[in-house]
Amino acid sequence: MFTIHASWSDAKCAALIRKTLFLNSRAICPSCEVRRRFKTLKDGRYWCGRCRQKYSLKQLAGLKGSRLPLAKIALLTRCFLKNYPLAVAQDTTGLSYPTVRRYYDIFRLKANKYTLEHAQFLKGRIVIDACYIGKKRNNNQAVVLGAVEEDYTNLAFRIIPQEEQGYVEKFLYDTACPWSHIIHDGHKAYEDLSWTGVTHEAEIHELGQFEKSCPIERIWALLRTRIRRTYHHIWKEKLPDYLAEFRYKFLYRSTALNELSFLEFLTLPAPRA
Ligand SMILES: [Zn+2]
Repeated sequence: MFTIHASWSDAKCAALIRKTLFLNSRAICPSCEVRRRFKTLKDGRYWCGRCRQKYSLKQLAGLKGSRLPLAKIALLTRCFLKNYPLAVAQDTTGLSYPTVRRYYDIFRLKANKYTLEHAQFLKGRIVIDACYIGKKRNNNQAVVLGAVEEDYTNLAFRIIPQEEQGYVEKFLYDTACPWSHIIHDGHKAYEDLSWTGVTHEAEIHELGQFEKSCPIERIWALLRTRIRRTYHHIWKEKLPDYLAEFRYKFLYRSTALNELSFLEFLTLPAPRA
């Protein structure tokens, strides 16, 4: 298995990143947003002949403004993808707590961008449910609507004001194929789904029926554990980013740490955090 070693040099990381960014000696220009041939300048930066801007390797890799050595960034990325809590990542990399937290924020933006770009409609048998994240008494509670394909191939989340029919239907309209089969817990928000084109069935938890809704319950359990273990506390304003992170790691759980995916993730363009 591919592993970023703490002993890797910046030069080695730079070479790997260059190899990932440049295909047939062309890389995507952050301004032009198309693949361009760059001229390499004497100071090591890259010059785009179209927008006439200069970029460092880090800027091309979506790490604008970063002052960390590339080897540290690669090591931090690995910590993030392996769900290391902030304190453990701090220990592994020898970086300060605020630095680790800032990079985790950047990686979350990258995860969000990746999952948005690769979004696919859910299909087949889909289990849907709502989950309350955070504490109401701190005014920090959010209702998250989640839908997962029964075999865990695809997953979607949305934060909604409350578990109501309108929000559920809009969510399914945006994320699921119309010929899907929806499994839910019989909450009144799901009663009327048939007119949207899907078929659906309810499993009543009060009657001890839990078998079919198991996939989404497992997602909620995993999400709660991860929030508790890795971040201890999050503000609801930041929740969308954490959900994106969760989705990325869940959907790419078997490939995220492969060399190709790892480098692709590391070099994804992301807005500055
Ligand atoms: Zn350009």
